[in-house]
Amino acid sequence: MANEVKDISREKSGQLFEEAKGYFPGGVNSPVRAFKSVYGTPLFIERGDKAHLWDADGNEFIDYCCSWGPLILGHNNCEIREAVAAQLDKGLSFGAPTALENKLANLIISNNRYLEKIRFVSSGTEAVMSAIRLARGYTGRDKIVKFEGCYHGHSDSLLVKAGSGLVTFGETSSAGVPKAFAEQTIVIALNDYDAVKQVFADFKDEIAAVIIEGVPANNGLLIQEKAYVDFLREITKENGSLLIFDEVITGFRLGFEGAARYYEVQPDIITYGKIIGGGMPVGCYGASNELMSHISPDGGVYQAGTLSGNPVAMAAGIAALSILARKGFYEKLEQTTQQFVQQIKDYIAEKNYQVQLFTIGSIFWFAFTDKTSIRRADEIVHESMEHYKIMHRELLNRGIYFGPSGYEVGFISAAHTQEDLNSTIEAIKVSLDIVF
Ligand code: PLP
Repeated sequence: MANEVKDISREKSGQLFEEAKGYFPGGVNSPVRAFKSVYGTPLFIERGDKAHLWDADGNEFIDYCCSWGPLILGHNNCEIREAVAAQLDKGLSFGAPTALENKLANLIISNNRYLEKIRFVSSGTEAVMSAIRLARGYTGRDKIVKFEGCYHGHSDSLLVKAGSGLVTFGETSSAGVPKAFAEQTIVIALNDYDAVKQVFADFKDEIAAVIIEGVPANNGLLIQEKAYVDFLREITKENGSLLIFDEVITGFRLGFEGAARYYEVQPDIITYGKIIGGGMPVGCYGASNELMSHISPDGGVYQAGTLSGNPVAMAAGIAALSILARKGFYEKLEQTTQQFVQQIKDYIAEKNYQVQLFTIGSIFWFAFTDKTSIRRADEIVHESMEHYKIMHRELLNRGIYFGPSGYEVGFISAAHTQEDLNSTIEAIKVSLDIVF
């Protein structure tokens, strides 16, 4: 075949993976990294710069995984690096308040009409776990409603029919989650109005909160209609339940006000992670002053963290959000993404291939199906992941790094140049030709 290329060398990555298996379950510290649902051993990454990554074998890639979303400014951004370096001179962690926390909080709150107060934690999982505790503490109720396919981190209450990692491994829940906990989590399909009504009819005064990913993006990209999100807002309000937007992916990806602004819906609690740390481990949850007054030390809902508000992470977050706050940042990134997506869509249409490219903001997702809209996890054709597997290998062989699961979305960063995007489009075209 004219377009055939050799498989990339994975010799060193292979050796490192063998060694890692002696240290970590499955050789990794987070399951999807194990490349279980794509070809070959995982690539061990040595460094990144702008939109590019280099692995241990010296292979170079244009990166569309972007560390699963945080790197909206690409790798090794000089302003973030300088801010981190300046903080390194002053100290790594104090376990005491710093002005840096105020500064990052101010950037988040003063640019966001949906929040009045926040609390920093160290990951998205912690942010959501804490938001759930606040909802339960505030309402005095135990049950949580979540949606099939939405991933909210790996805390017990939320590992029920969650996102890509669990689907990728053919499970819909996790061993080790007590049945009694899982029973407090009611899982329903997205975009199903009757299911929501039924849940509120069955458990009227027991539901603390309904939680939804701002735009579900962990099990494919399942963009919801505004009418549905409005409906969730109304029904939760009517029943004295809270509405939680998990914006760990969409926060600061769809602008400073994320999906709340996209849908023009005021959630009761919002969670963030990924981008707000500029590549360092940070999460946060926020709500109105009134709701947040229930958090300790003033309120009875306990939540704490040794490294919460870590100064190095705060410095990275401040540098990142200061760049994002510049005029036109999101407009430019979204325009670049739309042009990229459109060129691929045109090719798909020309060739009449059975694949869709869904997109919002600077997020995109390939779905190997003829359905032009997918709003629910059960509309995803699981067999189509075989196509993704082939595409993933072909892209890697052509220097393009996509997430190692067909359920994962891709991200465009401000560091992707037109040249990067053009060569990616060409690689995608050839890869699709090979798939079909
Ligand atoms: N919520 C959403 C929507 C996520 O996408 C993720 C991670 O991908 C999490 C929560 C958990 O965040 P973390 O991996 O930082 O714990």
